[in-house]
Order: sequence, then C-alpha cells, then structure tokens
Amino acid sequence: MDPNFLNHVKKDPQPKKVAVIGGGPAGMTAAITAVRRGHAVTLYEASGALGGQLRHSEFVDFKWPLLDYMNYLIAQTEKAGVEVRLHTPAKPERMEGEGYDVILYAAGAAEKLPPVEGIETVKPWKPMEVFGRETELGERVLVIGGSETGVETAWHLALCGHQVTELSRRMPECFFKDADRYQERLAKQEGGGSLEQIPKVKDIRLSEGQVSFTVKKEEKTVLFDDVVVCGGVSPVREDLEALSRCCIWFRVIGDSFRPGDVRTGVKDAYAAAMLI
Ligand SMILES: Cc1cc2nc3c(=O)[nH]c(=O)nc-3n(C[C@H](O)[C@H](O)[C@H](O)COP(=O)(O)OP(=O)(O)OC[C@H]3O[C@@H](n4cnc5c(N)ncnc54)[C@H](O)[C@@H]3O)c2cc1C
Repeated sequence: MDPNFLNHVKKDPQPKKVAVIGGGPAGMTAAITAVRRGHAVTLYEASGALGGQLRHSEFVDFKWPLLDYMNYLIAQTEKAGVEVRLHTPAKPERMEGEGYDVILYAAGAAEKLPPVEGIETVKPWKPMEVFGRETELGERVLVIGGSETGVETAWHLALCGHQVTELSRRMPECFFKDADRYQERLAKQEGGGSLEQIPKVKDIRLSEGQVSFTVKKEEKTVLFDDVVVCGGVSPVREDLEALSRCCIWFRVIGDSFRPGDVRTGVKDAYAAAMLI
C-alpha cells in the first residue's frame, strides 16, 4: 500500500478520545490515521515493543522489505504524537473510566495447534517463538504445516544451520516456492543446514523425538529434537464484550477481525480510523 495514503486524511471537526489496543501493523496504522484526523490517541501494547508479528522480520534477512515497513510504521507512530503505552495489556478494568469515545481492537491472531496424534507428547514451538531464539532449538527440527509461515520458518531454520524436515498434508502453492534459490544459498554457505520438504503426507503420529507418517503409501519415520507447528491461526478476541462497554464506538480490526496479512490488516485499520 502506498504510504502516501496517510497524507490525504482530512481533519474531523469533532475530535474524539481514541484507544487502540495492539501495536501491530493494524493498530499502528489505525493510531496514525486517527491522530491525523485530529483525534487524541492512546495505543496499548501488551509486549515491550511495537511491531506485532512483523517483529519476526528482524531476524530473517530475506524479509527485509517487511522490516523496513515495520520500522516506517513505528517511526510514523512516534512522529504522529500517539501516546504509546508499552507493557500495558488493555484490560476492561484499566479502560473503564478513561472516557474513551472509540476503542479500536487490534490484538492480532494466535497460532492453533494442528490436530496431530501425539501432539500432547511434545512441547511444540510456535513460529513467532522461534525467531531470535534459533540457537535454543536442537539440530534436527520438524516443521509441521505447509503455510507460507511454515515454509519461511523452515527455510529460515535451515539457513541458520538446522537439519529441517517439513511436512504438509496438502501440496500448497507456496510449498516449493523459491526452493531452488534457497537451496543454492544453503549450498554456498558454511554451517551445514538442510531442508527436506515432504508434501501430501497422511497419518502423522508424534511421539517423543520421532514422527511417523505415510507418504505415497510408504510408512516413514523421522527423528527430531524440536517441533515447530504452523497449524494456522485464529483471531485473538479477549474481553470483547467488557471492552466494548468502555466506549461509545468499538471496532475489531486486523487479524483479530479476520486473520490475513499485513495488507488486509492495514486496509481494515485505515478504513476504521477514517470512519471515526
Ligand atoms: C512468521 C510470520 C511471517 C509472516 N510473514 C508475512 C509476510 O511476509 N507478509 C504479510 O503480509 N504478512 C505476514 N505475516 C502475517 C502478518 O504479520 C500479520 O497478518 C499481521 O502482523 C497482523 O497485524 P495485526 O496488527 O492485526 O496483529 P499483530 O501483528 O499480531 O499485532 C497484534 C499486537 O497486539 C498486541 N496485543 C495482544 N493483546 C493485547 C492486549 N490485550 N493489550 C494490548 N496489546 C495486545 C500483541 O502483543 C501484538 O503486538 C506473517 C506472520 C508470521 C507469524
């Protein structure tokens, strides 16, 4: 999306007191847009930094365009004069009595555990937990899931030197995307990482340190030290009813509204802030 779209925002003749919950791309875009419309905006972020899920791009060199975009949004949020409260989860008891006219809820989405037999016997990592903690994972890593997040996480771990096996029940479009380019990089770099991607697997069964599955009617077993699950996400929607009672107008935006990507979240956020 053209960052210049924010320059076309017109002031609202009736400024309002606005809270934005969540400092990911959707929350930051909503906050910047609302300030440009003349509203007083406070942004609540539960963690210690702005960026939301985009923070993974700090650790992955092939995600630099996303890192640039995250840094742009953070700089604009600061420059716009949004009051940012880090380490501050927005709870109803904190919000009531603040007199907000509007609350925009952008708390993102959370990774789901896939329905895989034996998943309770392993301690799976979620993709967002892996970035920045790559050295804490053992040498052999199993990635379950063929989403874009799964594929990128698998390549990232391989490029960090892990022996990675990625399993997908389907043959998603993104599964082997750019595989030649990454394999070329792996071949050139020192550190010995590898990635084997196996699509169309059936009957995945996990037990401590090993996974069994069927592929092309053949039974296989792979050993692993750690498992990363990329089973899709579901929207985070905590205390929605109670939070909606702390203001006059309440709206859910970004991945909390419908899990998507940066583009869908930012468009939602811009539209919501323009409607205030
Ligand atoms: C590994 C990975 C790779 C990805 N790659 C891409 C990509 O290449 N391109 C793309 O378009 N998309 C990508 N995505 C998806 C994209 O990052 C998300 O769609 C986008 O970040 C959603 O934005 P959001 O603002 O709705 O939520 P989030 O980015 O999830 O931000 C939500 C924020 O709300 C905060 N929060 C939660 N609850 C509270 C609360 N009660 N109070 C205060 N704060 C709270 C969280 O701490 C978080 O900072 C990727 C996602 C992952 C995990």
